[in-house]
Amino acid sequence: MQNDLMEKIVSLAKRRGFVFPGSEIYGGLANSWDYGPLGVELKRNIMEAWWQRFVTSRGDMVGIDAAIIMNPKVWEASGHLESFTDPLVECKQCHNRFRADQIDVKKACPNCGNKDTFTESRNFNLMFKTFLGAADDAKSVAYLRGELAQAMFVDFKSVQETSRKRIPFGIAQQGKCFRNEITPGNFIFRTREFTLMEFEYFIHPDEWEKHFEYWLGEMKAWLAFCGVSEKNLVFHDIEDGERAHYSKRTVDIEYQYPFGQKELYGLAYRTDYDLKRHMDFSGADLQYLDPVTNQKYVPHVIEPSFGLDRTALVVLLEAYREEEVPTSKEGETATRTVLKLPIALAPYKVAVLPLSKKPELSDVAQKIAADLRTRWSCDYDETQSIGRRYRRQDEIGTPFCITVDFDSLNDQSVTVRDRDTLKQERIAITELNSYLTEKITKA
Ligand code: ATP
Repeated sequence: MQNDLMEKIVSLAKRRGFVFPGSEIYGGLANSWDYGPLGVELKRNIMEAWWQRFVTSRGDMVGIDAAIIMNPKVWEASGHLESFTDPLVECKQCHNRFRADQIDVKKACPNCGNKDTFTESRNFNLMFKTFLGAADDAKSVAYLRGELAQAMFVDFKSVQETSRKRIPFGIAQQGKCFRNEITPGNFIFRTREFTLMEFEYFIHPDEWEKHFEYWLGEMKAWLAFCGVSEKNLVFHDIEDGERAHYSKRTVDIEYQYPFGQKELYGLAYRTDYDLKRHMDFSGADLQYLDPVTNQKYVPHVIEPSFGLDRTALVVLLEAYREEEVPTSKEGETATRTVLKLPIALAPYKVAVLPLSKKPELSDVAQKIAADLRTRWSCDYDETQSIGRRYRRQDEIGTPFCITVDFDSLNDQSVTVRDRDTLKQERIAITELNSYLTEKITKA
C-alpha cells in the first residue's frame, strides 16, 4: 500500500465533503471529525446495508435503540467502572501522555526524545463521566456508554418476551459510543466518539463453537461486500491470557492500514458472564426457559462487533485508485483519481450532467434527475467542462454519469458512462430506469 495513501484520503475527504475537521472555524478540536454531505451518505449506506444484512433479512435477529446514558449500576455490573482502562504513562519532560501498551517505555519519548522520563504506568478509565440534572455531586454521576453491548444484556428479557424469539437469536444495535482515549488519532480510526454496529447472539453453551465459526464466516462475507480484499486482513486469534478474562475465544479482525496493522473488528465469545453479572447486581432473573426441552439456563453469547468509522475508512482506502486513462488527444494519457466504491455504498448512484447550461438541455436534464431521485441518490451538475465534471464524479465514486446533449432533443436518448469501465452507452430516456435498476441491483 502506498505510504502517502492516508494523506491522499484525508485530503480527498476534506476537498469533496466526506469528512471535515470538527469545529474548524474555532481552530478545530483535536481528533474530532464531522461527516460532510458525502460522508453522511456513505455512513448511512453502510449502516443500512449492515442492518438489512444482519437484521431485517434474517428471522433470528431483532434490533433495539437504547439510551446512551444508562443507570450507572449497569457499568458497575459490567466491570467498566473497575476495569475499562488503558495503561497510561506520562513523559515528565514534555507532559505528553501515551498508552504504555502502544510505545516502548524503555526507549526515548516519541514526542520530545528524552529518555527515562516516563512516570510509572497507571490504569486510566476510559468512561466519559457526566452529571444528571442540576446537581454535580457524587449521587448524580452518570456515564456515556463506552460500548453498545450492555443494553442488549439489560434488555434481554424484555426483547425475548416481546419478540417471542427462541434461542439461538440475536439482538442488534447501531449507535454512538464514547471512550476517553489517551491517544486518539489516525483520522477517523481512533476518536473519542464513534459509531458501533454490534449484535449479541444468544446461544446454548454446547453450541458455541459452531456459532462462532458461522459468525466469523459472515463477518468475512460482509467485508467482501464492502470491497475489502482478504490480502489486507489478518484474523488474529487472541492467545490465552491476552483475552478479556470472561472470553473463551476472541478473534481480532485486523487490517493493514497505511499506518500499520491494527484492529478493524472483533468477534468474541463472552460466555454467560454479562447476563450473570446483571442477574447478580440487579436481582432480575435473566434465564431462558427452552420451551422444547424445558431446560432453564443462562444463555451464552457470541458478539460480532463492527466499528462504523473504521469501516468507512477501509472502504475509502480500498476504493481509492489512480489510473492512467487515454485523453481525447491521440496517444495521450492522464491520471484520473477514482473511488471504486461498491455501488450499494456510493454516496450518489448516478449524476446527471447536461452538456451545456442552455435551458433546452437543462429542462430535459432536470426532469431526468427529478425522476431518478425518486429511486436513487442523484447529483446534478451543469457547471464547468464535461471533463472536469466527470473527474469530480470519479473522485466521489459515482458509478453512473448521464450526459444530456443536443442530440438528446432529437433522439430522446442520453449517454450513460460507467465509472469503472469508462464505457459509454446511448440509452433511450424511457429505458433509463430499467437499465439502471438492472445495473444497480445486480451489483
Ligand atoms: P482498540 O484495541 O483499537 O482500542 P478495542 O479492542 O478497545 O479496540 P473493542 O472494545 O473491541 O475495541 O471495540 C469494538 C470495535 O469498536 C473495534 O473493533 C473498532 O472497530 C471500534 N472502535 C473501538 N474503539 C474505537 C475508537 N476509539 N474509535 C473508532 N472506533 C473504535
